[in-house]
Amino acid sequence: MRGSDTGRLPPPEEEEMTTKDEQRHMSLVAELGCAVCRRMGYEGTPAELHHPRAGTGAGRRASHMDVIPLCPEHHRGKTGVHGLGTKGFPKHWGYGEAELLEDTRAELKKLIGLRIR
Ligand SMILES: [Zn+2]
Ligand SMILES: [Zn+2]
Repeated sequence: MRGSDTGRLPPPEEEEMTTKDEQRHMSLVAELGCAVCRRMGYEGTPAELHHPRAGTGAGRRASHMDVIPLCPEHHRGKTGVHGLGTKGFPKHWGYGEAELLEDTRAELKKLIGLRIR
């Protein structure tokens, strides 16, 4: 294991066990399109799901309800969250996973009018 002080994230996630609620949530999130592209004014870029793992607190399982939609470039590419890492990404873009997660929740609320925890 590398030290977390590099801000490096592990490689993109493998599929994990999900509940039906989580699956429905995740497919809705994917429909929103890439959150980084959205901030640049391009809505609905086909997206993969990113699970933020940093700063969720000790002992808390990374939740499938806390996923961020990112296109392949902004997920795994050179300017993506895995490519840049948790420190490099905010430096490059001026915002990080927390902001993207907030965007995602706000967009979901607009999309389905549902209360997201
Ligand atoms: Zn993108
Ligand atoms: Zn990811």
